[in-house]
Amino acid sequence: MIAENVKKYLAEAAGGNPMGEPVTLVAATKTRTPEEINEAIAAGIRAVGENKVQEFTAKYEAVQGAERHFIGHLQTNKVKYLVGKTQLIQSLDRTELADELQKRAEKANWTADCLIEINIGSELSKSGFSLEEAPAAYKKLRPFPNIRLRGLMAMLPLSDDAALLAALCKKMRALFEALRGEDENCVHLSMGMSGDWRLCVENGSNMIRLGTCLFGERRIAPAP
Ligand SMILES: *Cc1c(COP(=O)(O)O)cnc(C)c1O
Repeated sequence: MIAENVKKYLAEAAGGNPMGEPVTLVAATKTRTPEEINEAIAAGIRAVGENKVQEFTAKYEAVQGAERHFIGHLQTNKVKYLVGKTQLIQSLDRTELADELQKRAEKANWTADCLIEINIGSELSKSGFSLEEAPAAYKKLRPFPNIRLRGLMAMLPLSDDAALLAALCKKMRALFEALRGEDENCVHLSMGMSGDWRLCVENGSNMIRLGTCLFGERRIAPAP
């Protein structure tokens, strides 16, 4: 079932976005077993993302053959567990985290590829820079020698208002294009989960993070 789902969504994503960019499909793997994750990889998934450090670490050795992304809120005291092990940290959501990442990455002689997370819906329950503060944050973090900014990530609010969601995506896309105009490393715009990824891609996302679509409903709630 996982393999069929992966093939189906990879085929859909293969159409790219309206800007003609390919869309990267990242499997969001929280609560999934290494066996399930490896099945997705065997079916063609090239990147997998965990949102809890404990799960990332527990599955690190058993999962093989894909880029490893971190997509959840990252406590500064847990940065050390990711150093040298991720190809992309999608959730760089505050400057204190960048400070810690810089310190740890430098010690390990490693460079952390990261996306700046934007709290596009201005939700209290979500972390991230506001759209307004994002350009200054990007400018501030870009010179960090052991952090390489690769673009932006956002989670849309839960809403049935497609026009509102499309407008938020367009704001993200505009910011992304402005930053990309000044930084050739800025290539990823990560927006879209199982419930909203088509709308996100239609409005300029080029990286989507799918869990439920690929693996089915989550059996166990993720730890708080
Ligand atoms: C779980 C998760 C997803 C995927 O969610 P689904 O609705 O299951 O597709 C995407 N992004 C992040 C940050 C997540 O934690």
